[in-house]
Amino acid sequence: MATEEIRRQVVIIGSGPAGLTAAIYSARANLTPLLIDAPVDTEKQTTPGGQLMITTDVENYPGFAKGIEGPELMMEFRKQAERFGTEFLEEWITKVDLQERPFTLYTENKIIRTETLIIASGASAKWLGVPGEAKTPVGFGGNGVSACATCDGPLPAFRNKRLVVVGGGDTAMEEATFLTRYASKVYVVHRREKLRASKIMQEKAFRNEKIEFVWNADVQEILGTAEHGVTGVRLRNGSDGEHFTLECEGVFIAIGHKPNTDLFKGQIDMDPVGYLLTNGHSTATNIPGVFACGDVQDSVYRQAITAAGTGCMSAIDAERFLDHLPVEMPSGEEVTIEGEHITVDRKLIIEPTGEVISNEPAPD
Ligand code: NDP
Repeated sequence: MATEEIRRQVVIIGSGPAGLTAAIYSARANLTPLLIDAPVDTEKQTTPGGQLMITTDVENYPGFAKGIEGPELMMEFRKQAERFGTEFLEEWITKVDLQERPFTLYTENKIIRTETLIIASGASAKWLGVPGEAKTPVGFGGNGVSACATCDGPLPAFRNKRLVVVGGGDTAMEEATFLTRYASKVYVVHRREKLRASKIMQEKAFRNEKIEFVWNADVQEILGTAEHGVTGVRLRNGSDGEHFTLECEGVFIAIGHKPNTDLFKGQIDMDPVGYLLTNGHSTATNIPGVFACGDVQDSVYRQAITAAGTGCMSAIDAERFLDHLPVEMPSGEEVTIEGEHITVDRKLIIEPTGEVISNEPAPD
């Protein structure tokens, strides 16, 4: 198959709130961004639009006093980005080469070269790694095991059934509460005796008569048969080490997320978990011209509004960089597209040749 080559000033990876906000800003700056996102893949659990596509009510996104459904909010973001000329490409990126600018991205039949790259690839659900959890036919994934209550909870297989939600954070509380709309009973299985979830989410779950907490319990295995799907979970009590079985017909894993950064390993500086490093003063990574925004660089706030905020920042950073203006790196130095480095104290400019000159304004 012929390989098509595309050239751009700005390429954005990811179409959640961060990527689409970066697209709105860079499109309005006449940079005709190309936004690349993974196609819908039920096995890999990818959906263009990011995590809000699998959320119901969003009540904390400013501007929507009555709340808005996650997919509807993302559709509005997308239409706004389209309106100013963003182009969309739904393909898997197989490789990136960030050694030199223009940076090169490879898909199955396209080569994309870009002067700046904005990474907004988000984060994905984590799994326990216990027997029975893998996709069918190896385990019961897709046959009673899921990592997305909003996507799978309404399915007939889970209606009026006993379900287990694993985790003690806000996601687990949200999923458990949501599942009570359909299930006969929801057990929240948590490995400690204290929840990590915010107080309001805990209280909602505690008040819900269909939810029962199983404390201090580690999931050892998800049990079932190919014919009937999930029949229970084998748990280990953290205090006395005793094993016991909790009967259920479905298991929802809600133990947090992993940043989608495998593509950039060895090329961009990351923290030990894999979140891309930026310093908050800008969205620049250690590679001049590569910016990161949203959940892929935020292990702390992880909200749609903060993702949108950093998406805006990364578009402004890319725009500044393309305008030959300095942008602050994670090290605190500033760099320009010409490869000039401005020292952390802002007093010196180190030219690409190595020559050092003063950055102080000339005296009057
Ligand atoms: P968190 O990291 O907050 O919580 C993960 C939970 O899973 C913890 O209770 C953790 O246990 C448990 N866990 C992690 N690994 C394992 C494992 N291997 N085995 C068993 N249990 C495990 O992730 P969330 O996805 O819940 O939340 C992420 C962020 O998103 C938070 O900032 C949250 O506030 C936010 N959020 C907000 C929502 C809202 O406002 N509506 C909804 C959902 C999320 P332990 O506590 O022992 O570490």
